[in-house]
Amino acid sequence: MDLLTTLVDKGLRRELPTREEALAVLATSDDDLLDVVAAAGKVRRHWFGRRVKLNYLVNLKSGLCPEDCSYCSQRLGSTTGILKYTWLKPDEASKAAAAGLAGGAKRVCLVASGRGPTDRDVDRVAGTIKAIKDQNEGVEVCACLGLLSDGQAERLREAGADAYNHNLNTSEATYGEITTTHTYEDRVDTVQKAHAAGLSACSGLIAGMGETDEDLIDVVFSLRALDPDSVPVNFLIPVEGTPLAKEWNLTPQRCLRILAMVRFVCPDVEVRIAGGREVHLRTMQPLALNLANSIFLGDYLTTEGQAGQADLDMIADAGFEIEGTGQVTLPEHRATVGGGCGSHESAGSTGGGCGSHEGGGGVCGTAAPATPTLSEPRTDLVTVRRRGAGTDLAPNA
Ligand code: SF4
Repeated sequence: MDLLTTLVDKGLRRELPTREEALAVLATSDDDLLDVVAAAGKVRRHWFGRRVKLNYLVNLKSGLCPEDCSYCSQRLGSTTGILKYTWLKPDEASKAAAAGLAGGAKRVCLVASGRGPTDRDVDRVAGTIKAIKDQNEGVEVCACLGLLSDGQAERLREAGADAYNHNLNTSEATYGEITTTHTYEDRVDTVQKAHAAGLSACSGLIAGMGETDEDLIDVVFSLRALDPDSVPVNFLIPVEGTPLAKEWNLTPQRCLRILAMVRFVCPDVEVRIAGGREVHLRTMQPLALNLANSIFLGDYLTTEGQAGQADLDMIADAGFEIEGTGQVTLPEHRATVGGGCGSHESAGSTGGGCGSHEGGGGVCGTAAPATPTLSEPRTDLVTVRRRGAGTDLAPNA
């Protein structure tokens, strides 16, 4: 396909595709899917080889959030039976982090529910970062604490944080349909604050919330403009007890097209498969490693992932290698800090891993027809987390 040849050429040059080209990736047929994966895989291998970076989530504070993000099981009014607890102590967080690092992770993502941290919370997290860094040489730490006030990003940087995650989640035009207690502009502002403080910015999206293809292109082009080092891609886990519980809109093929599109638009950025990997990609997870160069190991914030050993086996079986602490994640032209992370929950509350605070719900989409429901609900694949941080049971790593 001429389209794919063009997109590979642009990806190798870090040149932005046109919106039409990005939309065309999402519109490709199932017959063309392997060609799309192969093309985006060339771009992935050019910038990241066959390395897979493993990230590990530690939910420092779970539930009890006053915000109303529709995708999030920690939201105000959520009836999901998630674990609820307040701040883990530094040694508790460090113990949880150590399990992930022993399992092969090189980055720890420290996530806390809530609109944003108080200055006292930032001090608390600073103590946790110190505890983790003292005990684990070479570890990267990303914080994901919600909206930042002036000076807080600098304080986290001084405390040793390498990165800050805050996801845009969806397009500006539809943001108000998924959250009313803060705005899209608030989110952009926090990503910019992290950037300005010298933190590696991590910001991503949640797909499957009923958004249109145009919405997806909007948010990914907005992310490219913000220039984060890492982009977590969450696939909504429609958790019972949240407003988006019925939004089962994704198929494995759709997820692969979305990841390919993100790779073409953000070719040299750490693209991370975040929440919803097991639920929506299912047996196609190994194919997605040709598109993303980063995943979360083990469990998410409020839901359980597949066994950590299954993640490691999948990577080896697919012919990829786990990135070591001595290897630099990012291409030389952007490798100053290391990697990126980022949403509060995209990866964690519903799914996966940081940056938006939660990551998975779904409303939106008014301009163009919404993507039709294509998949059967797979509630059998969704398990609320009952182990690891905040429990007496060993974490999954
Ligand atoms: S995503 Fe973050 S801010 Fe939004 S409801 Fe969940 S925990 Fe609260």
